[in-house]
Amino acid sequence: MSTILAEKSHPALTSLTEDERLFREAVRDFAQSEVLPRVARMDEAEEFDADLIPQLFEMGFMGIEISAEYGGAGASFFTSVLIVEELSRVDPSVGVLVDVQNTLVINALRRWGTPEQLARLFPRLATDTVGAYALSEAGSGSDAFALTCRARNEGDEWVLTGRKLWITNGEEAGIYIVFATVDRTLGYHGITAFLVERETPGFSVGKKERKLGIRASSTTELILEDVRVGAENVLGKVGEGYKVAIETLNEGRIGIGAQMIGLAQGALAHAIRYVREREQFGRPIADFQAVQFQIAEMATEIEAARLMVYNAARLKDGGESILVPGAMAKLYSSEVAQRVASTCIDLFGGYGFTREYPVEKLYRDAKIGTIYEGTSNMQKQTIAKMLLKDRG
Ligand SMILES: Cc1cc2nc3c(=O)[nH]c(=O)nc-3n(C[C@H](O)[C@H](O)[C@H](O)COP(=O)(O)OP(=O)(O)OC[C@H]3O[C@@H](n4cnc5c(N)ncnc54)[C@H](O)[C@@H]3O)c2cc1C
Repeated sequence: MSTILAEKSHPALTSLTEDERLFREAVRDFAQSEVLPRVARMDEAEEFDADLIPQLFEMGFMGIEISAEYGGAGASFFTSVLIVEELSRVDPSVGVLVDVQNTLVINALRRWGTPEQLARLFPRLATDTVGAYALSEAGSGSDAFALTCRARNEGDEWVLTGRKLWITNGEEAGIYIVFATVDRTLGYHGITAFLVERETPGFSVGKKERKLGIRASSTTELILEDVRVGAENVLGKVGEGYKVAIETLNEGRIGIGAQMIGLAQGALAHAIRYVREREQFGRPIADFQAVQFQIAEMATEIEAARLMVYNAARLKDGGESILVPGAMAKLYSSEVAQRVASTCIDLFGGYGFTREYPVEKLYRDAKIGTIYEGTSNMQKQTIAKMLLKDRG
């Protein structure tokens, strides 16, 4: 009994270490001073402000899990989640640029990269080069492994041909993880991941999408016309790109969950400020119990989503399976973000429907959460598949 009592219980999911707390404060300050003044302009212009990118590197947000030896912050996956959440409270477009860099590109390299690839790419990814992750194509989204981008072997080289669609950071990136098939008859066993530098002859960035939300985040086509890369640019093994893709996305979508809880928290904060100020019937609308209940329900849903996202991130750092917790966290937080952003517009009344107030943008931004890194249907499919497989 005394031994049991002497054991310390696990800290709560939301209690932060000193380092995590300091990181969160630094991001919060940065988001207020550097991101906030640019949000509306970037959304209107549908452009990421290029001046922000070097600052994101300087703050250490672009190489969170890269070790100090390569110039990174040497922090945890959970820290990436905290950073993405904080940035997304102010602008989910900035959140996703940082998210893709850390939870997809750097995460895939950490897991599958050779020592030579890490030594070559990590110093750049930590200091000045944005990364992008290129799996989707026009004809293959949810069915990602139906991709048609081809890789032909010629001696020591691979020759890549095809097109990628919907690539986040496409415009800003210098390094792309591109998935192609070495042999379509092999099905998913032909999929291989390649590291492609932007300057490689035959590689170009195509059309940029005009979008409903996260408009400052670039979403582009990539065009590969006989792009030659050496064998040293294969990430993981030839024919095992499906593992790189699946495992990275399983973890990466926890970052999308973080983007969504940040967005929802940001919208709620705007609404709380507004309902205290806005007067109707001779008093602040915050005095009406119906409004108070709307605020309470939103805060509760955000907290539930946050606990799911934090738990999935901490499980990942602990090396435990995150397939189902990650899918659930992304599914739930993206749906909470939509509901919360919508209710916040209701609380702003007619003003909420205009571009004068920030909730209209967050409502548009929230929509992407149920689509990328696996639609809500695909998350449900993953969750159900795992539950139904378990006969215990
Ligand atoms: C802004 C943005 C950024 C993106 N960034 C990236 C990126 O950086 N890298 C990248 O590789 N991709 C990226 N994507 C692509 C994204 O991951 C895909 O759009 C997404 O996976 C859905 O694929 P799809 O658009 O082809 O839709 P589809 O797969 O055609 O789905 C259409 C609808 O059918 C449903 N559906 C499809 N199959 C099933 C099924 N088996 N069961 C039930 N329902 C099903 C879906 O849930 C959805 O509602 C991005 C997309 C957007 C819009």
